Order: sequence, then C-alpha cells, then structure tokens
Amino acid sequence: MHVNGDYVRRGPVDPKKFFKVVDVTKDVSGLSREIEPQLGDTFTTIRRKQEPDIKIGPYCSDPYPCPLQDKCWAFLPTDSVFNLYYGGKKCWRLLGEGIIRLKDIPDHVGLTERQAIQRKVALTGQPHIDRKALASFLKLLKYPVSYLDFETFNTAIPLFDGLSPYQQVPFQFSLHRQSAPGTTPGHHAFLADGPGDPRPEFLDRLRSYIGNAGTVVVYNAKFETGVLGGLAEAFPEHAGWMDGVKARIIDLLEPFQSFDYYHPDQHGSASIKAVLPVLTGHSYAELEIQEGGQASLEYLRVHFGEGPEDERRKVREQLERYCGTDTEGMIWIVDALRQLAG
Ligand code: SF4
Repeated sequence: MHVNGDYVRRGPVDPKKFFKVVDVTKDVSGLSREIEPQLGDTFTTIRRKQEPDIKIGPYCSDPYPCPLQDKCWAFLPTDSVFNLYYGGKKCWRLLGEGIIRLKDIPDHVGLTERQAIQRKVALTGQPHIDRKALASFLKLLKYPVSYLDFETFNTAIPLFDGLSPYQQVPFQFSLHRQSAPGTTPGHHAFLADGPGDPRPEFLDRLRSYIGNAGTVVVYNAKFETGVLGGLAEAFPEHAGWMDGVKARIIDLLEPFQSFDYYHPDQHGSASIKAVLPVLTGHSYAELEIQEGGQASLEYLRVHFGEGPEDERRKVREQLERYCGTDTEGMIWIVDALRQLAG
C-alpha cells in the first residue's frame, strides 16, 4: 500500500483514495527465493557484538543513503576525491587506486572541465575566477533588482483542499529590493500565521511587493519557478502576473554551477550555504534555523501542533532571520562578484 500521487484532497481525507493498494505477491515471492539463503549470514552479523569491518562503497548511497555515513566516511579528508563534481564511478576508481585527495589526482586521469578546476584549486589553494563570465552574468541584472526567496512545506497528507501528497505549499518569502548597485536595500517579508492555507495571502503580498520592473534574482530558480507554477495552477486568476515574474527571474546559482567562480572550501558544492561564507565571510552558522527542511518542520511544529505562545513567537523570529539571510546573502554575493569582475 503506498501513497497515491494522483490524490487531490477535497474535504476530509479518504484513506481509500489516499492510499493505493498494489498486489506485489508475485514480485515478493520471486525475491524471497533469492533472500532466504542469505538469512543465515544476516542473523550471524546482527548477533555480533562488534560491527563488521566493511569498506565504504557505492552501496553507501545506492539505493538509499545509509545513516552511518558520518561514521564510516569520517576517515576521508575534507578535500577528498568524493568532492568531484558529478564524480560518480570515477571517485571509486580513484579511491581504489589509493588516490584520496583531489590534489593527488595524477595528470593522466581524465577530468571534466569543472573537475579539472577543482583539482587546480586544490593544488594552488586559490579560488578559480573567470572574470569575463562573471561580468557577462552581472550585465543581465536590470535594476531595481528584487532578491527573492521562498520557504515551503510539503506534507504527505495534504493539509488543505486542492492539494496533492507532498505538494509544495509556500508559507514565507523574503524580498530585498535594491534600486542600484551598492544602495541600501528595502526589505519586504511575509510569514503566514495560524493553521489556515497560507497561499492566498502569500500571493496577495508577493504581488503587492514584487512590482513589475527589474530583475528578480533567486538562488536555484528551479525551486521558485516550480512553486510559482504550482500556485498558478491552483490560483489561475494570478497566473498572468506570475508569468511576468517568471520571465524576470535570473538564477544566481548559475555562475557557481558553471564554475565561473570556485573556491576550494566549497567542496564541490554550488549551494548558497557553501558559496556565501567563501565569498563574503558571512555564514548561517549563527542562525538557529540553518536550512529549508528545518524551516518547514519548525513552521509546521509551532503553527499546526500544540505549544506555548512564546515558543511560537521565538520560532517565527528565527524563520524571519533565516529567510532574510537568504535574500540579503544574495546581495552580498552579487556585491562580491562585482568586485571580482572589476
Ligand atoms: S556507510 Fe553504511 S553502507 Fe556504507 S560502509 Fe558504513 S554501514 Fe556500510
């Protein structure tokens, strides 16, 4: 029995429609013939006092990430070959040959352009900067620039009518607007309150703040455009202006995903959490809420669960700080790129 992805909530949740029942008897009996002979070994391992000494391998993340990676992978240095961008099997081949650090990868090993940049910065300790590419990216920004970030939750059981399982529901945004490079930005924010559907007010507020001119900068546009697409379907009366917003979006992830800038301390990641500290010295370390998954769980906990009012107020302040850091951080990143591009 599994969650039915096509289910759309209308009124109270009907378990018969929410779940899909699939007869897997045949598949399972085929598999059990393969598994039964392995049971003896499995129980012997389970009964051991000491865990077996097993080398790490592709099975650590395939088919699912193993929860013991923190322990078994701890021997690897932070600049290990597993930082290679889309390294896949190459990382395992290198480890098999005893090459653990990026800087130890020999010249004859075939690397993609981005992987070669990683090897170069590991050797030099200096960031890679493609000034021309950064300057072209910055030219795309048309002022006033709005820096925008959404927070969403996506529960298995839809909380409101019209939602499907795991559908993203935006409950918060932060928007910093700068009229010209280097000017003090204005800040608009929205954080839904109470246990109702946050989307109508989210849309009204966003529409009133976003204006209709200038670039909208986001970090990882796939996420924000996906959320806007879901909203346009659910609230078609807003679809027109949302199309206009989508057309103005520029993705600040791009220069980092293309390795126009790459710092060794990014460890193969282009996420804003990896980029912000190396470029600007700011980080999320001081914040109580440090990533989107935690933001959504905390929001749900204090707005849909039981809890004292001061706890709810505290979490709301933390959410405001977290989402605001995402958009203010984007301004700092663009300022830093401007300095690098010269
Ligand atoms: S991380 Fe998990 S799968 Fe990988 S070696 Fe350790 S226990 Fe095994």
